[in-house]
Amino acid sequence: MSKTAFISHEKCFWHFGGNYALLAPVGGLVQPMVAGGLPEAPETKRRLKNLIEVTGLERDLEMVTGIPATMDDLRRVHPASYLKKFKDLSDNGGGELGLRTPFGPGAFEIAALSAGMVIQAVEGVAKGTYDNAYALSRPPGHHCLPDWPNGFCLLANVAIAVEKAIADGLVGKVAILDWDVHHGNGTEAIFYDRADVLTISIHQDRCYPQDTGAAADQGTGAGLGANMNIPLPPGCGHNAYIEATERLIVPKIQDFAPDLVVVACGFDAGGFDPLARMMCSAETYREMTKRIMDITDGKLVAAHEGGYSELYVPFCGHAMLEQMAGSTISADDPLKQRIDGQQPDARVDAFHSEIISELADILL
Ligand code: ZN
Repeated sequence: MSKTAFISHEKCFWHFGGNYALLAPVGGLVQPMVAGGLPEAPETKRRLKNLIEVTGLERDLEMVTGIPATMDDLRRVHPASYLKKFKDLSDNGGGELGLRTPFGPGAFEIAALSAGMVIQAVEGVAKGTYDNAYALSRPPGHHCLPDWPNGFCLLANVAIAVEKAIADGLVGKVAILDWDVHHGNGTEAIFYDRADVLTISIHQDRCYPQDTGAAADQGTGAGLGANMNIPLPPGCGHNAYIEATERLIVPKIQDFAPDLVVVACGFDAGGFDPLARMMCSAETYREMTKRIMDITDGKLVAAHEGGYSELYVPFCGHAMLEQMAGSTISADDPLKQRIDGQQPDARVDAFHSEIISELADILL
């Protein structure tokens, strides 16, 4: 059995997004929703933590309490001017500094905690303390640019952790695989000209952001070839995701030969997600995790990004954590029959295979 860390902190569930109804700000014709706030809400993630307690999977994990990132850690990615603006507004009741990133009082400290948990995960695996590690980070990070928060993301958690590990000499080359259903535009932008960090994003084409994530965007300068975008049409399910993993992601990572693989892990390609139109299941995440662990001797870091189905995210996360820990403690997927019965048929899978072949011609 692997030694798998699960890093979390109750404070991460206390981040509060404010007056949105799903993707639209409340006001005008948009009525406030009873559940309230952003879809990026605490319950998806808290329920994952609850589920691993209820099934007993936590007994096969090393449960670790999160520690905040320091200002020095944050400054490797974010300019001091942005950090000051964020902290000042957070100290004064909260507000909005970018696009779709409203936050309440104290959000700066919670965001620093979320980034710190990814640092703990990366350091723990890079130093060999753990075989692999999962950070239940909230707020998420992959849309955040150095000076502009975006898409529920206030600090670039994964980039902050990777930059620290490189600065500390723990790793030389890192691959970041972003399987959140939305494009990892922030992570891409931060490492776009870097040869030592491979960024891969598999996402629903033009779902969010709608103007980034094209296959043609492959890096620049020294980083040319070290950015891979895999934009897939809506409706892709288990088979298309596994085929893309086998034919595009695995060979790209093997060719790059990183010291560490970090998964920016969203579960919003799940078939019941309100913010995307993919058809993945808990088994898809288990299988993708296995394919990556097969090429890394089981070494892996995962940082939680998006995923908005309160019901389904916990089961996707549980399947992934079972795989990471090599545990036999499972959680029966209550939606398995429903999601398996809705998978694309052979004709649609063949169409998706053609798209993946076209992408292979561009990307490999
Ligand atoms: Zn997402």
